[in-house]
Amino acid sequence: MSEVVDPATGEVVGFVPATSVGEVDAAIARADAAFRRWRGVAPGERARVLRRFAAVVDAHLEELARLEVRNSGHTIGNARWEAGNVRDVLDYYAGAPERLTGRQIPVPGGLDVTFHEPLGVVGVIVPWNFPMPIAAWGFAPALAAGNTVVLKPAELTPLTALRLAELAREAGVPDDVFTVLPGAGSVVGERFVTHPAVRKVCFTGSTEVGTRIMAGCAAQVKRLTLELGGKSANLVFADADLERAAATAPYAVFDNAGQDCCARSRILVQRPAYDRFLELLEPAVRALRVEDPARETAEMGPLISAAQRDRVAGYVDGANVAFAGSRPDGPGFWYAPTVLLADSPADRHWREEIFGPVVSVLPFDDEADAIRLANDTEYGLSGSVWTRDVGRAVRVARAVEAGNLSVNSHSSVRYWTPFGGMKRSGLGRELGPDALHAFTDVKNVFIATEE
Ligand code: NAD
Repeated sequence: MSEVVDPATGEVVGFVPATSVGEVDAAIARADAAFRRWRGVAPGERARVLRRFAAVVDAHLEELARLEVRNSGHTIGNARWEAGNVRDVLDYYAGAPERLTGRQIPVPGGLDVTFHEPLGVVGVIVPWNFPMPIAAWGFAPALAAGNTVVLKPAELTPLTALRLAELAREAGVPDDVFTVLPGAGSVVGERFVTHPAVRKVCFTGSTEVGTRIMAGCAAQVKRLTLELGGKSANLVFADADLERAAATAPYAVFDNAGQDCCARSRILVQRPAYDRFLELLEPAVRALRVEDPARETAEMGPLISAAQRDRVAGYVDGANVAFAGSRPDGPGFWYAPTVLLADSPADRHWREEIFGPVVSVLPFDDEADAIRLANDTEYGLSGSVWTRDVGRAVRVARAVEAGNLSVNSHSSVRYWTPFGGMKRSGLGRELGPDALHAFTDVKNVFIATEE
């Protein structure tokens, strides 16, 4: 059994069993047997089951959101969005089974058709920062395509995934089609990689662990999707709407207390606008409501753990702090939103993913300089471009090496558009119309028609 803690108070809120290797093997064997049946369920019926699952999630939205507030310290507003996202992703991919069409390709002497065959058992490994959405981005398209799923939540945040598994059963998802296995990454997650019946691994987490998982999957040529770290740039040109750019910048990095792989944690400001931007940013950061995440007004909650808080603090020690927001006193793993001025792109806080409410600011000279600095990182997940010049917006959005760019906004995630990273931020794409194909293999069949 391992303890589950409320990060806002440090209090223990429950105990969750740690699945052993033997139990993982047994669950995978059951999921493999269930695959033979699930893939044979008629497309319309599979779609109906997923729509029912979405409806049951919707009926429990507030309960799931409250559970996430307690287990992960997410603000109640964010947690409601996250539970709603699970529903929406299920609904979206519920439209897939009847539309999973192949092609008919003209060939001489017969008929050539392609099929998108499900892979088998899919292993989904989830991090602690967005327990519900990241789980759904894996299990919903996997199930829609006819696979069965074993899912490992992060050690720190297993409660909503376990509840989703119960809701799946309530909705009529057949036994062993969707199984949640809490436990250690080195035990449960590792077994997904090494077990030959698991045909694909969806991993979201650190680049370090993702790299190891990729190497492990190589031994079996196992399919793999990786969503890893980020150090995304928020590029503010001097011609931008500086008021809006500054007012929104805190939310682009401090949302979920900065524990967001898409956090725009590097702000680059064109030199003539640099002082004015910081002048506008300061009141916006100070006004951010960092408080009990269960309060309707909360804009930022605590960090996930004491260890994470200490890690974040390590980046701020000795750095050039421009200003900081507030944080509640008392127990819990709180850290005030903090703005650092980078002395150079070599600064550690400029280069490494902090995964906390800390943002670094650096000036740039011109468009070429902005692109060079934005791309001077091993990561490539997301980014924002603020300018009123349409041509520049398009040029820069095309030039920044990242999977998800937004212009004059900070949005990265919509369930119906692709999401994923370039460079060491990941491999493959989730969500959107194409993600389904990442859970299938194409089979080509030729049928001779000649007598
Ligand atoms: P982590 O890599 O430590 O853990 C992620 C998951 O992998 C957990 O469930 C963990 O138990 C499991 N795991 C750990 N070791 C394993 C192993 N040897 N084999 C198999 N599974 C193992 O990351 P974390 O600290 O939970 O999450 C934070 C990181 O996740 C950040 O770097 C962040 O950028 C990244 N992240 C990326 C995205 C994205 O979509 N790109 C989204 C969220 C988080």
